[in-house]
Amino acid sequence: MAGIYIHIPFCIKKCAYCDFNSYPDIRDMSYSFGKAVISEIKNSPYKNKRIDTVYIGGGTPTCIDENILIDILAAVRESFDVADSAEITVECNPGTADFKKLLALRRAGIDRLSIGCQSADDMLLKKIGRIHTFEDFTNCFFDARRAGFENISVDLMFGLPGQTSGIWRDTLRKITEIGPEHISAYSLKIEEGTPFFEMKSRGKLSVPDDDANREMYDTAVELLNDRGYCRYEISNFSKAGFESLHNLIYWTLGEYIGFGAGAHSFAGGRRFSNPLGVSDYIEFVSSGGRAEDGAERESETDLMCEFMFLGLRLDRGVSEREFKKRFGKDMRGVFKKPLEKHLNVTRALETDGDNIKIRPEYTYVSNLIMSDFIL
Ligand code: SF4
Repeated sequence: MAGIYIHIPFCIKKCAYCDFNSYPDIRDMSYSFGKAVISEIKNSPYKNKRIDTVYIGGGTPTCIDENILIDILAAVRESFDVADSAEITVECNPGTADFKKLLALRRAGIDRLSIGCQSADDMLLKKIGRIHTFEDFTNCFFDARRAGFENISVDLMFGLPGQTSGIWRDTLRKITEIGPEHISAYSLKIEEGTPFFEMKSRGKLSVPDDDANREMYDTAVELLNDRGYCRYEISNFSKAGFESLHNLIYWTLGEYIGFGAGAHSFAGGRRFSNPLGVSDYIEFVSSGGRAEDGAERESETDLMCEFMFLGLRLDRGVSEREFKKRFGKDMRGVFKKPLEKHLNVTRALETDGDNIKIRPEYTYVSNLIMSDFIL
């Protein structure tokens, strides 16, 4: 499978924890940005490639004129061989997409919506700098249903300042009652350069400790599982048949081509990315720049390591057969030491024949396990 990622770097306002490549207050640049993205797509050296997923992320794609997104999607279809059954996702924030906008996006062929809710608690939403209330989220969700979206994902966060396990449980309950097909649940990370980082350094931000975070994660796994959401990746849960195909491309080392400011690509064994800033990106594209120029092929060792630590994020783990098919080598030979350590000593890994995976009770320390697979 191969995918296309399009990065829309505009937001209404910056959230207090966010270090994504997104900019508030410059949405008037979105029209010239859209033209640059279309030009980048039309001049891509990967033109006509078979594409199984398209993901329009950000930023907040829905905070700009929907016609820009629709025109970008049309350019993708014109320039690539997009499968009829392709999963086409757009990220959306409550308060930036009304029924009319959602209907236009659905009619343009977007069949999956990923809505950032983060919490059902309005005080918490305000504290983390979100622009919406929980009611705005529910209105957006039901507008999306009315517009014909039958595959909706909801993003949630735990480990937020002032969030108790009761508040988290209440959010999980409310969201599962609404019934999206997919839920992502990420713990808050305090990233450098964000207002939260500043506040934390000055001792002005208190967040739940590691034990409380772990308890919230375990609550999510248990409660979501009870309500029919299966965990298929560390932070992702879905009803049967609604796993994110686009993200599965990332986790299984599939190819993806990125367009837009700061978008990353992995194609032809090379990784490359576009300039981050909106003006820099527009200038780069208009001067005929191409992110892939000069990008070097990754070494086989790097690719084998990535295969392991990305694949171990998945509940199903990594396939020994797939590894052999891809690299012509025996996984147990290449990763002898870490596999012996975690299969036989720590017993953090288990095997069910072809697949090797992290035991559920070790998921919370998966980063430590995965780091042993960097050669
Ligand atoms: S809406 Fe998303 S991308 Fe925009 S500032 Fe908030 S977290 Fe960042």
